[in-house]
Amino acid sequence: MTTTQPKPSSKHAIKGLLPGELAEFFVSIGEPKYRAAQVFKRLYAQQADSFEAMTELPAALRKHLAETAEFRPLELAHLQQSADGTKKFLFRLADGREIETVLIPSESVEEDCAPKRLTICVSTQVGCALNCKFCATASLKMKRNLTAGEIVEQLLQAQHHSDKPITNLVFMGMGEPMLNYDNVMKAVEIFTHPDVQLLGARRITLSTAGMVEGIRKMADENRAIKLALSLHATTDGLRTELMPINKKHSLRELGDALEYYYRKTGSPVTYEYILFEGLNDKDEDARRLQRITRRVPSKVNVIPFHPIDFTNPSGISAQLRPTSADAFHDFIKRLRELDVTVMIRSSSGKDIHAACGQLALSHGVEGA
Ligand code: SAH
Repeated sequence: MTTTQPKPSSKHAIKGLLPGELAEFFVSIGEPKYRAAQVFKRLYAQQADSFEAMTELPAALRKHLAETAEFRPLELAHLQQSADGTKKFLFRLADGREIETVLIPSESVEEDCAPKRLTICVSTQVGCALNCKFCATASLKMKRNLTAGEIVEQLLQAQHHSDKPITNLVFMGMGEPMLNYDNVMKAVEIFTHPDVQLLGARRITLSTAGMVEGIRKMADENRAIKLALSLHATTDGLRTELMPINKKHSLRELGDALEYYYRKTGSPVTYEYILFEGLNDKDEDARRLQRITRRVPSKVNVIPFHPIDFTNPSGISAQLRPTSADAFHDFIKRLRELDVTVMIRSSSGKDIHAACGQLALSHGVEGA
């Protein structure tokens, strides 16, 4: 991580405000409220790259905004492109901390007929508190939540670096989105706002390590975005070893929360399942996986394990291996025989450490 720590801006963070909050801000700086709606659209729907560029506004207002409001909550520090077209962005925040965002052309290898997708994988926290043993972000520990503006800006800047429109968004970057619930939902409300329409709610997926309170809250609020659960094990023993959060919320409790979610929202659930050699890739795992996932309409995304050697893992983290190609395909075949709907997650961006779970600022991890 960078050692220079620029002073946080004293200007007001304008990105990430909902229309009502933006109107309040305009009133607080003595500007007419109605201008807020115009600026809201300009920030997100017709993306201006500075206040100066909003030439439809009076010059005095543009100057006033530039003096009082911060236009960019994060700066692009580094951009890496993978051979497969995946792009990894390293963004520097106003307090000098850094996060990564990934842009992936066409996610799934299974959907040959589907129209081309461009998926953005967005971070929600700097670091992460959950300490999942297979995840590179765990090596950074938890630093802080991202603001709604910092979440939204990842998409705005990534879009700027792509000639094709971003079609899908997954909250699968650094951090646990449920532990930054309010800011994540605020970002969702901005992306899907009728005056913005950057993305439809069904093109946004929130992935959680299994925060039961958050799942129930999404259900109670009838959120239209999709939900994915990082499952990765079919017994509490193994899951607790791999994901310490399982001590707090067992598989049964998670299953109950997902059933509640499905009853309230009518939305199917996606289970994410990384295959680890010899640990969770046996026939009995496939059978247990079928029993767990049949409680609600769902599909299973089987993910190859992306090694995280660059974080200098120790303990169980150092023993994890990807399942062989043959065993991987046998496992998928078995699930299909058991009538489980299966998707295979591709490994886009692996060569630049931009694949699932590899976000850890590899240049900044101690010893890497
Ligand atoms: N905290 C959230 C979102 C971030 S992780 C969650 O746990 O779901 C996004 C996805 O990448 C999760 O399914 C996670 O389990 C998976 N993942 C993490 N590390 C990985 C690795 N080394 N290889 C493959 N997938 C990984």
